[in-house]
Amino acid sequence: MRIIVDRERCIGAAQCVLSAPDVFDQSESDGRVLLRVELPASGAPEGARTAVALCPSGALSLGED
Ligand code: SF4
Repeated sequence: MRIIVDRERCIGAAQCVLSAPDVFDQSESDGRVLLRVELPASGAPEGARTAVALCPSGALSLGED
């Protein structure tokens, strides 16, 4: 499972960082999401799935490896 980020759609709401701080970070320059780890070793952690569901701009998705 791979975590996919569309930074162009990100509005910097930080729901993802709050849900999974080990997976997502926020850029200090533009406030948009940064991916700490694209391929979690044991699949997408629960926090990442929550972040995908909560992201208000639809900037996050999960894909196959
Ligand atoms: S929750 Fe969505 S809009 Fe908010 S920072 Fe994360 S990717 Fe961007």
